[in-house]
Amino acid sequence: MADRDGLIWYDGKMVPWREATTHVLTHTLHYGMGVFEGVRAYKTDKGPAIFRLKEHTDRLFRSAHILGMKLPFDNETIYKAQLAAVRENKLESGYIRPMAFFGPEAMGISAKTLSVHMIVAAWPWGAYLGKEALEHGIRVKTSSFARHHVNITMCKAKANGNYMNSILAHQEAATDGYDEALLLDVDGFVAEGSGENVFIIRNGKLYTPDLTSALEGITRDTIVQLAGEIGLPVVEKRITRDEVYSADEAFFTGTAAEVTPIRELDNRKIGNGDRGPLTEKLQTMYFDCVTGKAKHHMDWLTLV
Ligand code: PMP
Repeated sequence: MADRDGLIWYDGKMVPWREATTHVLTHTLHYGMGVFEGVRAYKTDKGPAIFRLKEHTDRLFRSAHILGMKLPFDNETIYKAQLAAVRENKLESGYIRPMAFFGPEAMGISAKTLSVHMIVAAWPWGAYLGKEALEHGIRVKTSSFARHHVNITMCKAKANGNYMNSILAHQEAATDGYDEALLLDVDGFVAEGSGENVFIIRNGKLYTPDLTSALEGITRDTIVQLAGEIGLPVVEKRITRDEVYSADEAFFTGTAAEVTPIRELDNRKIGNGDRGPLTEKLQTMYFDCVTGKAKHHMDWLTLV
């Protein structure tokens, strides 16, 4: 990943990919206190466009605020840096990774006196869980790792350190032969995937867990709005794992995972064991939005 051509926006300048480095005593590398975003640009007939750039940029700043991290650049600068990262890497489509981290000036726990640095990288990235996954769904396993408690890490912050929990859960599921993990909250209710929000469909209604311990997903919000447009009722509530077993359909949402059907949880087939019809409908609507085919949602796109 580090050894490639291209440019990374780093503290206000475009830096050659191989030179975008930092010292090994970087505080965030040791303790995980940092914030980041995952954003996607899609090819549209007007050129590359970033999906919901404002919402992603706002969430980055909200995450920093939650951690008490003062960012050295304003929202507008980071907004523009993401457009520049796609443009200057000549991407037609791709994934964008803004991040803010603490510098290497001291190694004590407190980060209060440290410098804060920001980067924005962008590179081509296709379907996160594979094309087959988007068409036929994935096999998921309930994780032995619980999702964060609201008072242990800050669940509304997309914070670097929070992802140790995601990595443990995802790797455990993958080692056991599954595509992804489903994490329960500390009370045993369904929370989210390692990098996705989760939805189930039952008797013509769409259900998703409330956001107590899950990230406020921008794709989740998009799907809730799209469901409203086709008259599909959306219910936000606590969900148990056996409700997922007996759902008609289920799917994950996320910027990377997009809308990925879940065909199996814990070796129980969900619905027909393939992508369900309403999942397919919402997935098609989602892809029409991100690629600029849904003209009434062009406001969600920022042309590069
Ligand atoms: N939950 C977690 C833990 C995530 O990492 C992500 C990906 N950012 C999501 C949910 C989905 O969020 P979004 O739709 O904004 O990408």
